[in-house]
Amino acid sequence: MAWSAAHHREGVTIGLVPTMGALHAGHRALIKAARLSCDAVVVSLFVNQAQFGPKEDYSRYPRKPNADAALCKKEGVDVLFAPPVEEIYPDGFQATVSVSKLARRWEGEQRPGHFESVATVVTKLLTLVRPTAAFFGQKDFQQAALIRRLVEDLNLGARMIVYPTVREADGLALSSRNVFLTPAQREAAPVLFQALKAGRAAIRAGGRSGTNIQQVMRKTLVAEPLASLDYLAVCDPDTLEPLARVRDRAVLLGAIRIGKIRLIDNLLVKC
Ligand code: AMP
Repeated sequence: MAWSAAHHREGVTIGLVPTMGALHAGHRALIKAARLSCDAVVVSLFVNQAQFGPKEDYSRYPRKPNADAALCKKEGVDVLFAPPVEEIYPDGFQATVSVSKLARRWEGEQRPGHFESVATVVTKLLTLVRPTAAFFGQKDFQQAALIRRLVEDLNLGARMIVYPTVREADGLALSSRNVFLTPAQREAAPVLFQALKAGRAAIRAGGRSGTNIQQVMRKTLVAEPLASLDYLAVCDPDTLEPLARVRDRAVLLGAIRIGKIRLIDNLLVKC
């Protein structure tokens, strides 16, 4: 990107917020954080087909280009970078980037190939835009952990900022996919955050057994008939491996399905 090269020459710092569009208040918080700490802000908008499984919702994924452009303008974004598919994947493209261990469990297990496609597209975006800092949401905890590793391992040169999850008043993490929930499903959806909070309460009450904490979360979840469980786990926040015993820190990871909608969330807990 010639724009980035010129800005780097002038010592301008660039913040990049990678998104798939259908921007909401969670994305807006990342944009504001970038605005506060960088001179210039780039929001990328690319619905990366490669990271959707064959049975997933690529064609149905919400797209709101006009509203996205308006939000970016209002937030003082300098560049809305919405590359055409050929710019990211030119003819003959075949490179992939994998972050093997961090991609193995949880979302990686439920969505084969997903993280390889995420790592590949993020590598492309970071090398095209060459930001000083890149902003990601804690909402996608495993993705953020994996990208942190990727940036460090491949010396991609961006400072990695992970911003806390923005939630609705009832605790549901904002997500572009929430628009697909029917009113009844929307009412049921906060159960995931409630389950994670029950796990956090158990830790705060002195619980240390990973299995027990997981059971506490599960009990809250199964009380909601509209929700079906993909996983609820008590993990090391750096390796994302399950913890038999919680020592000083844990991340509680969860994924559920409500109807056809898949929701993920997490909570970091310090003892
Ligand atoms: P997406 O457009 O869903 O790919 O998300 C783009 C970025 O926004 C990712 O870094 C997400 O983790 C982040 N994000 C999505 N939802 C939220 C949220 N509720 N709070 C904070 N960040 C979020």
